[in-house]
Amino acid sequence: MNDCLFCKIVAGDIPAKLVAENDNFLAFADIAPTAPVHVVAVPKTHYANAAEFADADSQGMGQFMQFITEIGESETSNGYRLVFNTDADGGQTVFHVHAHVLGGRAMQWPAG
Ligand code: 5GP
Ligand code: ZN
Repeated sequence: MNDCLFCKIVAGDIPAKLVAENDNFLAFADIAPTAPVHVVAVPKTHYANAAEFADADSQGMGQFMQFITEIGESETSNGYRLVFNTDADGGQTVFHVHAHVLGGRAMQWPAG
């Protein structure tokens, strides 16, 4: 999609430090990490958010969950957190569905 930051990373037009990739998904290091492990994972197809992705391709969403849990398992040794920020109150700033995989320190709960 024109003017989508994560579509540009998927296309290779904006560089990113890749963590994992397959035919459908890409994972890369967050440019402003908030934890020792902070990976952003996206489907290569553009959907605005998790709800759009799940509605359009529930099987793909299932495969995406497998992709991001594999990243959590391989990048951390003591647990991790998976986050889909969605829309304004969810704190979403890039409107191409993405999961944050966070770890390497104890996460706080409840969320801020
Ligand atoms: P959101 O706030 O939408 O859930 O998450 C967007 C994430 O993308 C933020 O954590 C932000 O640091 C990250 N981000 C924004 N621009 C870039 C970029 O150009 N490259 C990378 N690798 N991450 C980015
Ligand atoms: Zn996009």
